[in-house]
Amino acid sequence: MTTYNASRRDLAKVIAFMGAAAATPALAQPRAAAPGNIDAAVKAAHAQYKSLNEGKNADYIPALAQVPSHYFGIGLVTPTGASSFVGDIEPKFSIQSISKVFTLALVFQESGQDLVENSIGVDATGQVFNSIVAVEQFRGKEMNPLVNPGAIATTGMVKGSSADEVWRKILGIHSDFAGRQLDVDEVVYKSEADTNQRNRAIGQLMSAYERFPGDPAQATDLYTRQCAIAVNAKDLSIMAGTLANGGRNPVTRKQVIDPRHVPGLLAVMATAGLYDDSGKWLFRTGLPAKSGVGGGLIAVSPGKFGLGTFAPPLDAAGNSVRGQRAIASISNTLGGNPYSVQPV
Ligand code: GLN
Repeated sequence: MTTYNASRRDLAKVIAFMGAAAATPALAQPRAAAPGNIDAAVKAAHAQYKSLNEGKNADYIPALAQVPSHYFGIGLVTPTGASSFVGDIEPKFSIQSISKVFTLALVFQESGQDLVENSIGVDATGQVFNSIVAVEQFRGKEMNPLVNPGAIATTGMVKGSSADEVWRKILGIHSDFAGRQLDVDEVVYKSEADTNQRNRAIGQLMSAYERFPGDPAQATDLYTRQCAIAVNAKDLSIMAGTLANGGRNPVTRKQVIDPRHVPGLLAVMATAGLYDDSGKWLFRTGLPAKSGVGGGLIAVSPGKFGLGTFAPPLDAAGNSVRGQRAIASISNTLGGNPYSVQPV
């Protein structure tokens, strides 16, 4: 990785280059964004979308409807630990489906990627994230680990002789990715546990198709608990930054997972991270990403930066409206699309 040691003139050239990149995102390919540009891009996106008033909080989990809709925080972290945090960076919210990525990382690390590919698959279902039809159609196969049937099965694959042991590992890997000890929002957990009949049915069905070992009720309960882990936008950006940095936390410098598992994680984020809008998202940004119904969103530009946002109102597909807009804008400004190369 090149280190950037800029004189003022160099910086002016980079800024000019970044400006051109913003106008023609298809040609943007900076090696590494300079700290001043990062901050400017993050602040500009926050200012541009702060007042955007589209979408609606999720309310099928009653506690999520109570979260103030105006919250809007953005964090960006680079592999070298440069960062920019703007807006509502501190308020905590439940990680929800973004947790699916990190529990999958744990299973990759413990059992390897073949287990997941062979038992639940890595393709997109083309259905909503909690579709029962998709399970029936494919007999529990062809379920991406980032939609509920695949995710509940993935949680059921974490090794451990008791629910407690499994839970400690799940919380542990989330905490390592964030670089601090995380905990559960018990109000959200209870709210979802009281109303998650559908996920329990999905867990039972996946178990009936023998897609994961062990007790489906336990797997669904632990999945519900992992979805209630409390994070803020800063945590999410560090978690995304860890993925952007080959599995090493850019802040704590801890190697959280083996770098060889990162491409597989990013691949399933690309195929199903934004559910049935994943294709549209990839087309617009090229970034592997993952959303949660709590209003969080992460996106990864490998080797360049990780982004984490928090803005509760969601669109019809269940993805944060302001989060998507902000990330697309920042990434295009900084040349984050990994498919975009300059001809030689
Ligand atoms: N806990 C939520 C559920 O299972 C997560 C869904 C999401 O964030 N998309 O319904």
